[in-house]
Amino acid sequence: MAKKTCSVCGKECGIFNWSFELSEGFVCVKCLQDAGKIGSLDLEELKKSSVEDILRMKDNFERSSNQIESFQPTYEIDKIIKFDDVNQYLIASDAKHIIYIPDNYKLIRYDQIKDFEFIEDGNTVRSSGVAGALAGGLLAGGLGFAIGALSGRGREKKFCEEMSVRIIYVEDNDYKFINIPFIDSSTKRGSSSYKHAQESAKKTLLKLQDIKDNHQDDSEQIDDELNSVDILREYKSLLDDGIITEEEFNSKKKEILGI
Ligand SMILES: [Zn+2]
Repeated sequence: MAKKTCSVCGKECGIFNWSFELSEGFVCVKCLQDAGKIGSLDLEELKKSSVEDILRMKDNFERSSNQIESFQPTYEIDKIIKFDDVNQYLIASDAKHIIYIPDNYKLIRYDQIKDFEFIEDGNTVRSSGVAGALAGGLLAGGLGFAIGALSGRGREKKFCEEMSVRIIYVEDNDYKFINIPFIDSSTKRGSSSYKHAQESAKKTLLKLQDIKDNHQDDSEQIDDELNSVDILREYKSLLDDGIITEEEFNSKKKEILGI
């Protein structure tokens, strides 16, 4: 039997000829290991992957392994979510505790975070809905209020089955999300563990809001700059069409650019 060659690393696939089928060619066990895919192998999914996909997975896995090593939490909540404000990323788990196995945690850069939600028994409050509707200074009260209002909705039910914070982030040009569970089994409303979960969820939301505010300032500034250039172009075309005078254009230009 001819030996198979790994399409990713170009080496022969070892004495047992272990290899896995890709959309074109094969991948060896070593490469899969380097891509963090051993232990969570989905053969059907793998068959749709190209050599480039595997190379990208290897890259991502290596990068996040390095990031995990340099991760220094500056703030953590219930060991379920940890923040590193220095390196600007967070580690979250959709299991109850953070376990340092690649598939059990998710490393998210602050600038990848797009939105977040608070979920209690299927009711959802999205940050853009909460924060967007309230003045900045009222935010802390605002989120707390939103959580309170949500919890109020289910007050007729004695038990809460699920409470989580969902982070929506961008990865590989795609929107993805992770649910961080604060309650994942029947918990009596008003009990101390219920209140603790509520408090932890609130802390998480406030921290996420803080991160989002800090990273949104930059992008809004860029938007503003783009806007003024766009507006100026509009005026330039009015000038070119002879609708406004050179003098009027120059005074608008000074006004818009603030010079
Ligand atoms: Zn290989």
